[in-house]
Amino acid sequence: MDRGAELYIEHGGRRLLNLASNNYLGLAGAPELRDGAIRAVQEYGASSGASRLVTGNYALYDQLDREIAAFKEQEDAVCLGSGYAANLCVLSSLADRNTVVFSDRLNHASIVDGILLSRAEHVRYRHNDLDHLAALLSKHADVPRKLVVTDTVFSMDGDVADLEALLPLCRDHGALLVLDEAHATGVLGRGRGLAHALGLQDEVDVHMGTFSKALGSYGAFIAARRDIVDGVRNFGRAFIFSTSLPPAVVGASLAALAVVRGDHSRSERLMLLTSQLRGVLRRLGFDIGSSSTQIIPILLGGNEVALAARDFLMDQGVFAPAIRPPTVPEGSARLRLSLRADLEEEDMALLCAGLEALAAQGGP
Ligand SMILES: *Cc1c(COP(=O)(O)O)cnc(C)c1O
Repeated sequence: MDRGAELYIEHGGRRLLNLASNNYLGLAGAPELRDGAIRAVQEYGASSGASRLVTGNYALYDQLDREIAAFKEQEDAVCLGSGYAANLCVLSSLADRNTVVFSDRLNHASIVDGILLSRAEHVRYRHNDLDHLAALLSKHADVPRKLVVTDTVFSMDGDVADLEALLPLCRDHGALLVLDEAHATGVLGRGRGLAHALGLQDEVDVHMGTFSKALGSYGAFIAARRDIVDGVRNFGRAFIFSTSLPPAVVGASLAALAVVRGDHSRSERLMLLTSQLRGVLRRLGFDIGSSSTQIIPILLGGNEVALAARDFLMDQGVFAPAIRPPTVPEGSARLRLSLRADLEEEDMALLCAGLEALAAQGGP
């Protein structure tokens, strides 16, 4: 596999429509981002040379922090090496051995690792099951510090967290709410994420998001109240003890933000395509679970069925990965379609023809 962010990939001598990448807006190859990266390299060189706390800080990095804080409408923000590092920092700076962290069972692995690093007690609640969460919060009523953490768009199911119900629950139980908006950033809420899509941005305590998916660049951010962001800067070991992002990446991220702030047509087109495709899949009788976003699973059950469906679609010119346990629960192997805003009519026609053939050959 080569050039895996592009709309078409070459695989085994074939040209395949790429529904496997997280380049949801098609920005990774956009001229604005290329220019942003090139300008930053020309001005600053290839490496920052150190952690931001030592000499690895540049005006460009402070600018990205400020622009993210404004974009997310938060007091402050800090940008750092990756989404993985951001979750380690958030959890290890906000939680310690006297904290209980309540985490959705389907949360990303970096959240799980962040909780482990923090030494907090890790309590998992059933996916999007807020009655279960409420019961667990009540059970830990006398714990002094509680955190609830959730992905907003779940990466293998494309469903979303129920923020409208989560917020009052957190408030009633005195828990901080931490959101991982990795798959929502650039896509929902005019690019700002699910909290903004619902108008709840002021009530959420910590907003984490990445530049590495829809924004087509690399790295991540944490936006929150000033004291929380200061905590990350002062205690987030994955921030302190790691070289800051290369200037080219920061230049590309600034350019991506400018694109997303100025023009919502990409995310709007993506949402239109996803609702069209959901309709097609349902009509063909496929089980797409509770997906409401650009990530659409086709739930198939057994591993062999999922692998056969993947190979069948490849013969039709479409690449959608087969996701199997342990990435997803036993017996829930699936194809995972990641739609993207740069799909044209003929690409959608190719995809729909492939799916119709798949439905016809074996039935869903
Ligand atoms: C991809 C992802 C991350 C990690 O982000 P990277 O920038 O790739 O390190 C964290 N959380 C979620 C939910 C993700 O999907």
